[in-house]
Amino acid sequence: MTFKIGTCAGHGGFGVTPGKRTPDGEYEWNFNDRVLCAFISKMKEYEGVEVKRYDDPTGKTDVPLKTRTDKANADKVDIYISFHHNANSGKWGNWGGVETHVQTGIKGQALEMAQAVQPILVKTYGLRDRKIKFSDLHITRETKMPAILIEGGFMDSTTDISKLRSDAVLKDVGKGIADAIAKWKGLKKKATPKPTTPIKNTKPTEVKAKSPSIVYEAHVQGIGWQGKVSNGKTAGTTGQSKRLEALTVKLENSDAKIEMEAHVQGLGWTTFRTNGEVVGTIGESLRLEAVKIKAKGLDIQYRVHVEKDGWTPWKKNGEAAGTTGLSKRVEAIQIKLV
Ligand SMILES: [Zn+2]
Repeated sequence: MTFKIGTCAGHGGFGVTPGKRTPDGEYEWNFNDRVLCAFISKMKEYEGVEVKRYDDPTGKTDVPLKTRTDKANADKVDIYISFHHNANSGKWGNWGGVETHVQTGIKGQALEMAQAVQPILVKTYGLRDRKIKFSDLHITRETKMPAILIEGGFMDSTTDISKLRSDAVLKDVGKGIADAIAKWKGLKKKATPKPTTPIKNTKPTEVKAKSPSIVYEAHVQGIGWQGKVSNGKTAGTTGQSKRLEALTVKLENSDAKIEMEAHVQGLGWTTFRTNGEVVGTIGESLRLEAVKIKAKGLDIQYRVHVEKDGWTPWKKNGEAAGTTGLSKRVEAIQIKLV
């Protein structure tokens, strides 16, 4: 017997759903999708599970709620989980927290599922516990199987947004929910084949204290995340006419915090991002045009490769590298500690 899980990421991406975005213009669907993708990949580690998603996995359309629930009912999935993130006023504020919705008047399995999931949301997001809520929502009302709707933190919260912008956090949340569902349902992990050759420990033992280093990764048009590079190496491309769309920067072996802003096509300067948070957009075809990077107590130098112009001079500690108002894409970046 296959255990079938119906899912959806709330809404659609790329502005197809009005509203449903952060005050900086990032779409709710993109956050929802990242959690759902991590959930699906983790669920694959368990035996006899099939996960179906009823939103548009490309984010290009906003599948009507009735279509989602009709399909889930026709497929007779065993449970249903809808992934969302919350919003309050659409302007930045200090509210926040995570909650799980169950249809009013429903107890039994839906409530049990919410009780299995809600503590994991609190733990993995590290946000306030707004508890299980009984509501009247299309998804939880019109599905014929136990269903929950998750609101994983507020998109317009100055406290919650750093979690939503962290790929690592969203991945942990998706995996955590998968493990919680598996535990609740008593699902078994698939047997992992034993490696045929012994795994060698290739890392030499560290003997001395490590010096700080700066690690960064670029999300490039047509390529996606490129892999991390560090200490002055090039992230992005040159000579390929590809725009840099998003960037993460973090410090290793240092307590200092990165403060980074980017100038995004059509959106202007973003708010500050810190260690490992994504700045820029993913899947929205918007170019980065300039960046500013600093960290208290460290000297950071960086330069960007701008369309037609090539490498800019080295900039440091919060100076803008790149252009604004010229519609030129950044194609690559180098960052180093000096
Ligand atoms: Zn939503």
